[in-house]
Amino acid sequence: MEPLVRFSENFKLAGDTLLNACPVCDSTEIGELWRLPQNRLSHVTHLNAPGSPLHGLYLDYLPTLKSPQEIFKFDICSHCESIFLNPKFDDQAHYAHDTSKVESFRKKGPGEQRGAADSFMRMFPDDTTVVVDAACGAGQLLHLIKIDRPDIRAVGLELSKPSVAFMNGELGIEAHLTDLDRDDLDSVVAPGSVDFIVLQEAFEHVRAPLVVMRKLVRMLRPGGRMHFTAQHYGDNELQIRVGEPIYINDAGLDFVIKALGVELISLKKDIKVRATVEKPGGPPPRAAGSGRGEARSPATPAKPRRARWHRRLWSSIRRRLIVRRPTR
Ligand SMILES: [Zn+2]
Repeated sequence: MEPLVRFSENFKLAGDTLLNACPVCDSTEIGELWRLPQNRLSHVTHLNAPGSPLHGLYLDYLPTLKSPQEIFKFDICSHCESIFLNPKFDDQAHYAHDTSKVESFRKKGPGEQRGAADSFMRMFPDDTTVVVDAACGAGQLLHLIKIDRPDIRAVGLELSKPSVAFMNGELGIEAHLTDLDRDDLDSVVAPGSVDFIVLQEAFEHVRAPLVVMRKLVRMLRPGGRMHFTAQHYGDNELQIRVGEPIYINDAGLDFVIKALGVELISLKKDIKVRATVEKPGGPPPRAAGSGRGEARSPATPAKPRRARWHRRLWSSIRRRLIVRRPTR
């Protein structure tokens, strides 16, 4: 008998929603890559490694010997190379009533987003008048942008009812209760009307990131820009965090950018991919250097290198690859 079935009381497979296809590209050619035993730690724990980039890092899970324990299974997609938790958790139902973002705003203020707000305002296209934060939490970022740029229409889209009530009420910021995957966004924000969109910490938490991002790009006017983050694997020493259900590499980022039909204008890669893309068809920028960072460079290394890496990985995985077909 399969050990995870036989010993399911002590070693429980985490997650409640089985995916038949890759959540990023929808390919059904997916197969198991990792099984990770993880327990949530009983105390707040930080790494103590002065000089290391990971010094001070907060740890919430570790592979401990405590049982019962949960086993987190991750699959990889042969097409876009995304790695994703499968089964995953249905986060949306829980998050609809989440009050943690409002509590955090009340306790700590919006200061944690100051650096991000300054950086985004520098990336705004010329004559920016409409900014959307998709999955805006309790509105920390938009609040800071409105302080510096009261002329801007700042719109928050958010799944948490308490966050939306807090923004519309106490903060006086336009916020809409929105399920980015399932709702029609055209009726909330007109297509082609937005100058800058932020999608932070949401790529891995929506059901289908590409579906959501297509809706957001539709919202952008020609020449409008979108900044998004995604969990990143590749040159990254950070431990796997089982609370983050999707990781992409350079191939995944390339796939997303091509599928959206946008141009990459800025990219930073550390523990996350932080990319800014531009919708084609806008007016030429007034001054050189309006894009920031590693401007207009391809996201992937040279193709032959990637192809070799891809072949090596797949020859090792294919031996134990289970190809799932949709049951519908
Ligand atoms: Zn995929």
